[in-house]
Amino acid sequence: MSRNVAVIGAGPAGLIAAHELRLEGHKVVVFEQQKQVGGTWVYTPQTESDPLGVDPVRNTVHSSLYHSLRTNLPREAMGFRVYPFRVNDSEKRDGRRFPGHREVLEYLTEFANEFEIVELVRFETQVVHVGMVMEPDGGSPTKNWRVRSKSKSTPRKRDYSHSDDENEEEFVEIDEIYDAIVVCVGHYKEPRVAQIQDIEDYCDAFQVVAGIDVWPGKQMHSHNYRIPEPFRDQVVVLIGASMSAADISREIAAVTKQVHIAIRSVDTTRRSTAPSIRPGYDNTWLHYSMIERVHEDGSVVFEDGTVIFAHTIIHCTGYEYHFPFLETNGIVSVDDNRVGPLYKHIFPPYLAPSLSFVGIPWKLPPFPFFELQSKWIAGVLSNRIQLPTAEEMMKDVESFYSKYEISGLPKRYTHCIGESLIEYYNWLSVECECEFIEEWRINMLLSTINRGSLQPETYRDIWEDDHLILQAHHDWNHL
Ligand code: FAD
Repeated sequence: MSRNVAVIGAGPAGLIAAHELRLEGHKVVVFEQQKQVGGTWVYTPQTESDPLGVDPVRNTVHSSLYHSLRTNLPREAMGFRVYPFRVNDSEKRDGRRFPGHREVLEYLTEFANEFEIVELVRFETQVVHVGMVMEPDGGSPTKNWRVRSKSKSTPRKRDYSHSDDENEEEFVEIDEIYDAIVVCVGHYKEPRVAQIQDIEDYCDAFQVVAGIDVWPGKQMHSHNYRIPEPFRDQVVVLIGASMSAADISREIAAVTKQVHIAIRSVDTTRRSTAPSIRPGYDNTWLHYSMIERVHEDGSVVFEDGTVIFAHTIIHCTGYEYHFPFLETNGIVSVDDNRVGPLYKHIFPPYLAPSLSFVGIPWKLPPFPFFELQSKWIAGVLSNRIQLPTAEEMMKDVESFYSKYEISGLPKRYTHCIGESLIEYYNWLSVECECEFIEEWRINMLLSTINRGSLQPETYRDIWEDDHLILQAHHDWNHL
């Protein structure tokens, strides 16, 4: 069965979803609010009007990339299975194994061009509302979806005419009906910031900070970090132990007077121990404690008793799932960063298969997982692959949730795949009747994680897993 499918977003998830859906015989339209494909990988020096990212009416920017960003995965393990992320020999390209962000964008753009996905995309078209189509009597919902989008010009005008005035900003709203929606909007855009003084223990890295209203320094979220220069000669506090905190703290240490990193320690006895100097740095301190309070005179007091005078606090406290356009009458909601209920992180049981999400899980290599999730969605939509009944899916979700409650893990870890990566991938592979995750990919990920913790400064440039690269190339030769 072929369906009319709206894919929202032309980042890596939306591109591969469009490819898999079309391969399965569906008619696909991809909505993309930016001017080009690539999603997060479209770097911009622009930042948001509210650097902390809490003002709901701020000017928003999609990408969280900083200028110097290099991938944290080796290219072989990062790429799609159908389109390996090979080294391009051209002089202009970045041939490093852990390339800079521009190279990832080149790779995604080439994929979109070679697989003719670009022609499915309506650029500069933002989806502003997605809602269920109701029966004419206003009663029960149908299986269809109404999509309202705001476009800088109509698709027809984009295709067939040329405007002389580049600056002409003409918005057109379009209302359309689709059989299915695949949401691929990413989840590294909406900063997760504590409602300071209101919410305790809001996220791993954060805690109530008393006095923040009167503290004279600048606060920002890592979403709005681009280059180190604005922090020259400053004393900067970073909150969090994420990859971004690790990268940013190392980069700014070269220009700042001091860097202090507040890391939440699960070991409560560590919280009162003195900060330690980061090996290899003479101006960076690691505090295994949070900020306890801040004062009007610019001082920042840590739980470990240290008092410093800081210019800036950078919150590296992660992001929220955010679907401002989606109206499901409460069937799908986001609660403490759990998007739910979702069967296998993809289908809401009572709206499946006409609504699905690609890219919700984290702590996994995103691209190959997007690929498999998309294959499953495409096959289910054409009735080639059968889903369990809504009740059965709901039961599965509930038993999954109760495991979380028993383990004591907070809801916000619901979509953290981590150690279940192989199990999750292979479960989807069975559904899609395709191959399990490659052994070399798993081993490469493990060796990267290991190196990243043992040699954080050099893991991108010094490695010992050349044999795995050979295995990857061997596999690709048989594609
Ligand atoms: P995105 O890339 O965010 O794309 C979503 C798209 O949806 C965007 O183009 C956006 O404009 C569009 N969109 C959103 N809302 C709408 C709307 N209403 N209407 C129309 N269009 C809309 N992954 C790796 O594999 N390797 C790495 O090294 C790596 N490093 C990272 C470093 C940082 C700092 C961050 C933030 C992420 C990193 N990631 C990395 C993860 C990265 O997010 C994924 O690689 C990938 O970009 C996610 O793809 P996506 O398509 O789900 O979302």
